[in-house]
Amino acid sequence: SLPTIYAITPTYSRAVQKAELTRLANTFRQVPRFHWIVVEDSNMRTELVSRFLARSGVPYTHLHVLTPRRYKRAGLPRATEQRNAGIGWLRQHRSPRDFGIVFFADDDNTYSLELFEEMRSTRKVSVWPVGLVGGRRYERPLVDKGRVVGWYTGWRADRPFAIDMAGFSVNLQVILANPKAVFKRRGSQPGMQESDFLKQITKVEELEPKARSCTKVLVWHTRTEKVNLGNETKHHQDTIQIEV
Ligand code: UDP
Ligand code: MN
Repeated sequence: SLPTIYAITPTYSRAVQKAELTRLANTFRQVPRFHWIVVEDSNMRTELVSRFLARSGVPYTHLHVLTPRRYKRAGLPRATEQRNAGIGWLRQHRSPRDFGIVFFADDDNTYSLELFEEMRSTRKVSVWPVGLVGGRRYERPLVDKGRVVGWYTGWRADRPFAIDMAGFSVNLQVILANPKAVFKRRGSQPGMQESDFLKQITKVEELEPKARSCTKVLVWHTRTEKVNLGNETKHHQDTIQIEV
């Protein structure tokens, strides 16, 4: 039978959060054998996300961990603690008997359904192109005779794995077999999270190229424009309260 796809999504409270999660749920709901691990960057599970997930129609686990304030600065990597909470949950609640694939699904990206078909066959670590990232239309692993031999990227080509968080998946067994593999804060610059993590669990030569030898873009690193709330008033003026 199909292995379960575990998508780990860090998310934080902001004006567009429910819209982003709605877009994700509309995609994930259509993926067979899917388990959504949503990790809120907060000191509790919020009402908004709890209610949302309960009605989403997607099998899920709802976690939370607050990013320490000292790490909430421009130029520092985001969602390190949340991704680690997600893989920590898998290590506690899943065993070598469970067949699964782990994927890091940020809440603002755009995912095709075909992407999940591609990652489903991940034996150790799969890779594929990501659109709209690295200051280019796309980045992709360069493939020769079925092996990854380099990276097409416009940004820091010296990265050992020049790939975005949305560009790879990991077999659950690899996550369980490497209990110390985590996303690191110390010494990790933004954009190096992926390389730092992948270095701990695999080698470039072992990567499994997906999406027609890494020639198809099935996921986009979209980013949502900051909302204009310039006409909000200091005190609520409507006669009712509405969750947005
Ligand atoms: N995120 C978070 N806390 C934050 C900022 C971001 O949990 O303080 C989450 C966000 O919801 C997303 C992921 O971390 O799922 C990556 O953040 P973002 O999309 O802002 O990063 P970028 O796309 O700019 O690299
Ligand atoms: Mn993003």
